[in-house]
Amino acid sequence: MSRARKPDWLKMRPPSGERFTDIKQSLRERDLHTVCEEANCPNMGECWSGRSGPGTATFMLMGDRCSRGCNFCDVETGGMEPLDPDEPTNVADAVADIGLEYVVLTSVDRDDLDGQGADHFARTVRAIKDRDSSIRVECLIPDFQGDSTLVRGIIDAGPDVIAHNVETVARRQFPVRDRRAGYDLSLSVLDQVDRESDIYTKTSLMLGVGEYDHEVYQALSDLREVGVDIVTLGQYLQPSRSHLAVTEYVHPQKFETWRRVAEDEFDFRYCASGPMVRSSYKAGELFVDAVLD
Ligand code: SF4
Ligand code: SF4
Repeated sequence: MSRARKPDWLKMRPPSGERFTDIKQSLRERDLHTVCEEANCPNMGECWSGRSGPGTATFMLMGDRCSRGCNFCDVETGGMEPLDPDEPTNVADAVADIGLEYVVLTSVDRDDLDGQGADHFARTVRAIKDRDSSIRVECLIPDFQGDSTLVRGIIDAGPDVIAHNVETVARRQFPVRDRRAGYDLSLSVLDQVDRESDIYTKTSLMLGVGEYDHEVYQALSDLREVGVDIVTLGQYLQPSRSHLAVTEYVHPQKFETWRRVAEDEFDFRYCASGPMVRSSYKAGELFVDAVLD
């Protein structure tokens, strides 16, 4: 593994177009935030337009400050604000206004709150579904410190997919993630959803954070063992010099090899794998094409 200059395949094209502008305006009117924008995600053009299927956007709930501090993540730690009780209906309004057919809801971790914000998360799912039950909702949830009652509250809200990211292989959990997170804890959250519901489960790993191939292979095996349906693999990009360094820019061909291993050998419903892939990459299109078909 070597530290190297960013390769050509990671060059980004800025998103544009009428639909992109309309969505942005609707979000600003309601003071809502998307991970797509906050992370300046390179996939905005593709995801928001949904050129060959339902468009996808990822809403960030419960503020823009986190109670944890993962070494790969650009979200600020500490200084969290009280929850906005209107956020669930505001998100549902924006989803209807924009005409999204597939919505990803995620949040910062709110270990500071009673119930860690799980009920707020569940209320947002219900607000969207109450308005139009055909809208698909994917919840990318925190580990809720392994509190199965809180995870159960998300299951009961009836999303179509529940995602929780293991982020990296077992050995590299630290220094990649905050010390309150953990590989086994994350597997247990995914396992609970699989055991207690028919909801599709999903997770994501970043490559380029010091993992070895045999460890990625083991992680795929562990994830199938707990019944995970969908996995995504993407390149870690260092948000700033104070964050964890990239150990390797993984070649696109290697991402394609991992996709085949995940789908053909481990039988995941689908694996989105590529340098620019993020956990919610074209989630709507891929869900319809690979899971519902
Ligand atoms: Fe970022 Fe999530 Fe870690 Fe918080 S818990 S620092 S939002 S990755
Ligand atoms: Fe938004 Fe996720 Fe698509 Fe990026 S990959 S644009 S965060 S939906």
